[in-house]
Amino acid sequence: MNNKFYHNLIFELSKAGREGYSLPKNEFPHHALPQSVCREHEAELPECDELTVVRHYTNHSGNNFGVDNGLYPLGSCTMKYNPKINDEIAGSRHFLNLHPLQPEETTCGAVAVSKTLRKVLSEITGMADFTLKPCAGAHGELTGLMIIRGYHESRGDSKRTKVIVPDSAHGTNPASAAVCGLEVVEVKSKPDGTIDIDDLSAKLDDSVAAMMMTNPNTLGLFEHDITDIVERVHNCGGLMYYDGANLNPLLGVCRPGDMGFDVVHLNLHKTFSTPHGGGGPGSGPVGVREGLQPFFPTVNPYHGNFLVELRALSYILSLGKENIKNVGPLATLNATYIKEQLKDHYELPIKGLSKHEFVFNGLRDKSTGVTTMDIAKRLLDFGYHAPTIYFPLLFHEAMMIEPTENESLESIDKFVEVMHRIAREAAEQPELVKSAPHNTPISRVDDVQAARHPILIFPEES
Ligand SMILES: *Cc1c(COP(=O)(O)O)cnc(C)c1O
Repeated sequence: MNNKFYHNLIFELSKAGREGYSLPKNEFPHHALPQSVCREHEAELPECDELTVVRHYTNHSGNNFGVDNGLYPLGSCTMKYNPKINDEIAGSRHFLNLHPLQPEETTCGAVAVSKTLRKVLSEITGMADFTLKPCAGAHGELTGLMIIRGYHESRGDSKRTKVIVPDSAHGTNPASAAVCGLEVVEVKSKPDGTIDIDDLSAKLDDSVAAMMMTNPNTLGLFEHDITDIVERVHNCGGLMYYDGANLNPLLGVCRPGDMGFDVVHLNLHKTFSTPHGGGGPGSGPVGVREGLQPFFPTVNPYHGNFLVELRALSYILSLGKENIKNVGPLATLNATYIKEQLKDHYELPIKGLSKHEFVFNGLRDKSTGVTTMDIAKRLLDFGYHAPTIYFPLLFHEAMMIEPTENESLESIDKFVEVMHRIAREAAEQPELVKSAPHNTPISRVDDVQAARHPILIFPEES
């Protein structure tokens, strides 16, 4: 345990009788509450002075890690810097205090925000219109699949019960299909990481409702056969669903609509400037091609997470049409630079050109027994968030790195230097890496023990 943080770990700060505030004496007559609503025992509330409470929370906030602290290369999550201007606009009292049931004539500004956002998202993705109601990526996926189901049902085509999902897909894709009552059929990846068209063709028939894809895929590879794939699925009567949670690499480069996709969801909380992690609030708007608008389902009685939408619009408009075109190329440049700098030490299982993220399969030299988990833990010692590890499931030691477009060359060079250092340590002092982290408040956690026997209260100091 690191002494610098020791005081942070003492949770039991309560001292009987200690007060943070005292209230003025009650001048009003005393009314006893009926016995039936009274507590049997006094509530066990902490008794602390104000300074102790302030230190407690301030020190704990310092144990947190976010993209505002340092590089956060969590592949597939697009943990990118969210400019503060967007938070400031979303925090404006003119928007903050709106109520969804307010008379319409008092909400013209908010309505204009929603309309404009639908329009710019449609333009960015090449779709006809968007619904902003879904409150997360997975919620968007479910909404999109309901649209697809509604479309097939409207044509009396009731035998379409299957959704095709690549083996590298994000876990929410098969989960959403299952929640929507559809059967998941997995399609294999070829050794080069892209979709195996022969395997796909063998699975296409008139029971296919849709195929869900993301392009570039989870390995960061652009599916060059995308128009062929789309044509095959369309020819068998299925629709194409685009998982646009991480639209970063495509911004300004190409559009799902132009690739032939029928339904798209976006994660405004990944690509469009809302901080995420910790569970929300998010926004997963769904776009459709012309003709599918009538099938927008009611997945939310109100308007979605409006302040997330407002941040997204503010982000898009403040970048503008010209600058937003730099996002995808810069995200790709940064990721590729890191990949090229590190591939002599880390195993690159898929060699092709990648986009905004890429996957290593641990260290090239596996003889030391240093694993991806050890490297991820050692990164914490140097003030980095770990990359996504052990996902996708295609390799045993997967380590998925996505730096995003915002990092400067200096920041990326520092990260590369630390990754080189860890590779050197793994060769020279493997125990140092295997026992990391050493500089964090808590050292290596036993994941299995923590999952099987969670201790949900902090132990007394011992
Ligand atoms: C994050 C993510 C999702 C799910 O989004 P949530 O908002 O967490 O539900 C879906 N697909 C991909 C590719 C993602 O990265």
